Amino acid sequence: MRLDKFVCKSTALNRQQALLAITAGELTVNGKVAFDAGMQVHESNCIELGGRLLVLRPFRYLLLNKPMDTLCSNVDGDYPSIFNLIDVPNPHELHIAGRLDADTTGLVLITDDGRWSFNVFNPKYHCQKVYRVRLRNSIEGERKGEIDRQLVARFEQGLQLPGETKPTLPATLVYVSDHEVLLTIGEGRYHQVKRMFATVGNRVKALHRERVGNIQCDVASGAWRYLSDDEVTGFG
Ligand code: URA
Repeated sequence: MRLDKFVCKSTALNRQQALLAITAGELTVNGKVAFDAGMQVHESNCIELGGRLLVLRPFRYLLLNKPMDTLCSNVDGDYPSIFNLIDVPNPHELHIAGRLDADTTGLVLITDDGRWSFNVFNPKYHCQKVYRVRLRNSIEGERKGEIDRQLVARFEQGLQLPGETKPTLPATLVYVSDHEVLLTIGEGRYHQVKRMFATVGNRVKALHRERVGNIQCDVASGAWRYLSDDEVTGFG
């Protein structure tokens, strides 16, 4: 990687501070002062800042329970960014793996490991995501207290969403109450859950992501925690 990136990933310096340190001649690579921020370096090189050996920080993996009216973006927009809720060093190095709409709440994964986030949401791996969905219209079938079996079958068979060439992959609906279901899907198309229910003539009133793969949203709204090793390796 570039020398300036290595400095950011091994110290508390941001990009600009790293560049200043490099141009001031404070960095050495294998004993020689390095002034070129774009110089390619490797972990096996001896990289020192003011005589202190730099070691890359391990990757970081977090989950956040996203509150309503926040943005899955690195910057504020119509609503505040979720990064305002995460007090970690160098938050600019982190990115969101699998965004949620501003009005969707629940589990968001955040990391600086690009390969990991690519795998988690890679459509090839069909990682299962569970959403709690509150609906405008009742989903009860013939018998009160039971879900409409035809609706379950339509979700299982796959729905043809407007403007898409392929139907959705088989999805599972579980009855919670006459206006609430748990929906499990193995893909993540644009506004997928809202569009699926619109296709069957219903409307999503509230949407909350409870689980992604083996990772459960188990912190309070607005809170975050680091993932365990098992949670991280569950995605390979
Ligand atoms: N599906 C949606 O429609 N919105 C989300 O935020 C996530 C899944």
